Amino acid sequence: MRTYFIKTFGCAQNESDSERIASSLEGRGMVKSKDIYQADHVIINTCMVREMAENRVYGLVNNLVKNKLQTGKPEKIIVTGCMVGMAVRDKTGTFLKIIKKRLPSVNEFLPIEEVGFDHPPLRSDTSSAQVPISNGCNNFCTFCVVPFTRGREISRPYHDIIEECRNLVQKGYKKITLLGMNVNSYGADLVAGRDNIQVLRDIDKKYFAPPIGVRSHGYQLPDGRVIKPVFVKHLNRLRIPTLFPYLLNDIAQIKGLELIDFISSNPWDFSSELTAVIHKNPNITRSLHIAIQSGSDRVLKRMNRWYTSSDLLHLFTDLKLKIKNLKLSTDIIVGFCGETEKEFQDTVDLVTKVGFYKAYISMYSDRPMTAAHKAFQDDIAHAEKKRRWQILEEMINKP
Ligand code: SF4
Repeated sequence: MRTYFIKTFGCAQNESDSERIASSLEGRGMVKSKDIYQADHVIINTCMVREMAENRVYGLVNNLVKNKLQTGKPEKIIVTGCMVGMAVRDKTGTFLKIIKKRLPSVNEFLPIEEVGFDHPPLRSDTSSAQVPISNGCNNFCTFCVVPFTRGREISRPYHDIIEECRNLVQKGYKKITLLGMNVNSYGADLVAGRDNIQVLRDIDKKYFAPPIGVRSHGYQLPDGRVIKPVFVKHLNRLRIPTLFPYLLNDIAQIKGLELIDFISSNPWDFSSELTAVIHKNPNITRSLHIAIQSGSDRVLKRMNRWYTSSDLLHLFTDLKLKIKNLKLSTDIIVGFCGETEKEFQDTVDLVTKVGFYKAYISMYSDRPMTAAHKAFQDDIAHAEKKRRWQILEEMINKP
């Protein structure tokens, strides 16, 4: 029997994609190898969020090539995930040329879209499951490569997600984690109609402009309710309501499901409806991970994050007030382009006021294709980034 090994880099979304790749390979009669260096096929699911993650892929391929020279294995190296996503979306073809040149021994570059959602994931955990609800992102934060590696946000049909969660609970799963690059905006494309998303973004640029040009009859939920694209003014942007609070509420009603978690969650779509749904359903997590990235209004603006530090304080105060036993964690980037000492101190101040129990703190890493790469200088020295990282790390993660 032919054997495979999947090496996954990066986030929970990549892990979930790897479960579907495994299912697709086993559907073709392959079996999992315990050792990467003895597998016939090695599939590398890549991440590009930071340069370090990308370099680890190049290092791994080199090691596999050396192993092949000695043992003949692996026969085939397949690269998928974010690096390939970036390559297929780069219309100039430059990035594909770069990775083909750096990885001449790779036999196949597989876009993850070709695996699709039709393959039920091959899960190794029998009590806790990850369920993707959307892929891609429309937000274009200036530092982030995700809209280029995963493309625009596409939501899975509501009914399919509910069905998958019901089946999991019937099989004995007790915990489900809903996955998306921005779970809170789940369903905006379903409500507005996918073709309208670009129109919506154009409207968003003109604050308070009338919502012309977007036509849709809305999206029908399984219980018959139709959610129409009524525009709401949220954090100074025109938005359509998202389906996430409805989806979360419906999943919480599945009998036998003990815990529902969700990542990644962004502050701007964290609506009062969502807070109310969490409040009334005790089986929804009380450990909320909400990525702030910075506490400085000026840095947030340069990052194209559509909220201010006072919006954040308002949101966190409201959440603490309404949800008992709440634990808050977050993501923060230090040393973003042009971040002054004062701007960094604004983040320190916000962190002090909110009191996060955990934070994923990263030093800014310049990424190709992003707006920050094109428009700003990565001008904070590594040693200074490290100093700021250490200050926050000690404040939040090692108090
Ligand atoms: S919302 Fe998240 S995934 Fe989307 S562009 Fe911003 S950081 Fe990237």
